[in-house]
Amino acid sequence: MSRLALRPTIGIDIGGTKVAAGVVDPEGTIIDRTRRETPSKNKSARVVEDTIADIVGELGARHHVLGVGIGAAGFVDGTQSSVLFAPHLAWRNEPLRDALQRRIGLPVVVDNDANAALWAECRFGAAQGESHVVCVNLGTGIGGAVVLDGVLHRGRFGVAGEFGHMVVVPGGHRCECGNRGCWEQYASGNVLVREARELVANGSPVAYRIAETCEGDPSRITGPMVSALAAQGDPAALELLEDIGHWLGVGLANLAAAFDPGLFVIGGGVSDVGDLLLDPARTTFRRTLTGRGFRPEAGVVRASLGNDAGLIGAADLARRSSSRRRDRAKLVTTRLLLPRRRDVAGNGTPVRRARRTAGGTGTAIDPVAPRRANGTWRRSVP
Ligand SMILES: [Zn+2]
Repeated sequence: MSRLALRPTIGIDIGGTKVAAGVVDPEGTIIDRTRRETPSKNKSARVVEDTIADIVGELGARHHVLGVGIGAAGFVDGTQSSVLFAPHLAWRNEPLRDALQRRIGLPVVVDNDANAALWAECRFGAAQGESHVVCVNLGTGIGGAVVLDGVLHRGRFGVAGEFGHMVVVPGGHRCECGNRGCWEQYASGNVLVREARELVANGSPVAYRIAETCEGDPSRITGPMVSALAAQGDPAALELLEDIGHWLGVGLANLAAAFDPGLFVIGGGVSDVGDLLLDPARTTFRRTLTGRGFRPEAGVVRASLGNDAGLIGAADLARRSSSRRRDRAKLVTTRLLLPRRRDVAGNGTPVRRARRTAGGTGTAIDPVAPRRANGTWRRSVP
């Protein structure tokens, strides 16, 4: 590895309430950190830019960095340069990359926060060694991202992975997006709070511990409060998590039908309860999976990098982008870098591996040892 490639990069995760930033080395270790409040939605786009420039100024003064990666909650275009829409910020069709590059004098990449988080899990976390991964983050809503054949898939327009708005209950709960019955109305942190509040507001006797904890005021109920009660064994809180786990499993089975991943990585605040959520999800997933009993089954695991995943992933995407630029300068084509293996189809015939370039909106994972978690490797002939 060249000395240049050993230099750290800055990762910045712009969330609804805080901006978390860190200097990250090539092994995915955060060697320095800082944070700021997220500027209010009412402030101009320029104020968010100021915040980012301020962070880069602070961290860049202490470290000789290669570039900057930004993960933002919102739609980012497929060229990792513009934010099309960010629900918590004033960004609308914001050409963020070029504006920031001019201002801070470093290469910048911009990506969706869920893409950045999944990228980190694939490179350094729970999904290491797996080439087909779907990530589902349960926060206020549901965020998602997809890695297929070692490549992060952003979609033709950069907005793939918005699983939270798949309709799972036609005519069901009204969603903020305007539709009814979206998945995130049944399996997210917001749902945990909504359902707990409803139980307490209705004076349900099963919810007496929850009512006690919030001192009878449903508006004081939070997700972590319900999770903590579940961890203490409170039956009502456990039931609520089971319901969310059930709906999580339904959605995962749908995603398995579409993507056939080897692994699902579940992140976000609600996933902190671990198996209290994931066991019911696995049960429903198995029961709902199409072709069950006749197909290898994807694993369902908890994300391992927690709140740092977004900034670690953004930093690594910035590193990847700068090495691609160096490769282009040397007229070297970047190819998919997963390990070569003799893939064998069901009938024992070796399957020719697709040759793909990792340009466009795809980003390829580094060489890793393949993991045969739950079945055989299968791949369609291109
Ligand atoms: Zn929706």
